[in-house]
Amino acid sequence: MLQTRPDLITCLPMGGYLIIPSKLIEQLYDYRQLSNIDTEAGGVLIGCWRNRVVNGVNKEPFHAELTDCTTPHRRDKRSRYGFFRRSSYHIKKVLQAWKHSSKEQSYIGEWHTHPEPHPKPSNEDIAQWQQNISGNKAILIIIGQKSNWIAYWDGFSAVPLPNLVQDAR
Ligand SMILES: [Zn+2]
Repeated sequence: MLQTRPDLITCLPMGGYLIIPSKLIEQLYDYRQLSNIDTEAGGVLIGCWRNRVVNGVNKEPFHAELTDCTTPHRRDKRSRYGFFRRSSYHIKKVLQAWKHSSKEQSYIGEWHTHPEPHPKPSNEDIAQWQQNISGNKAILIIIGQKSNWIAYWDGFSAVPLPNLVQDAR
């Protein structure tokens, strides 16, 4: 019998969980830049924020659950040290997820790869996030050759998150 692999989980700064299906992260690992001709890859992360309920009252978004992602499209611009989403496929897939989930799932962040073992965001990465997602919260993932960098964007800066562990709940 096929056994489903457990989801991966880490903690957000406000105390909630970030949940990533193992299938989704494995899809991102397929784009790791392991050979020296591999170009950067990236896409958007799709999912939803879950509110905390205190005394029956919905509080601010607390948990984040990823459900899907987009992967590079041939119209995107890819190089060894850069990835730029150009195809409308990314936004179309987000809209589709939104429609098919009763408006629950939407854009929740972005991911891309780096040709380095243990990735850190570049100055250009940070400048782009400050331009594109300023004031909004998001989940950011950079897939390196050996490890990943995963962060919570609080609207203004990136807060790196602890390593993912398998969800044992
Ligand atoms: Zn980068």
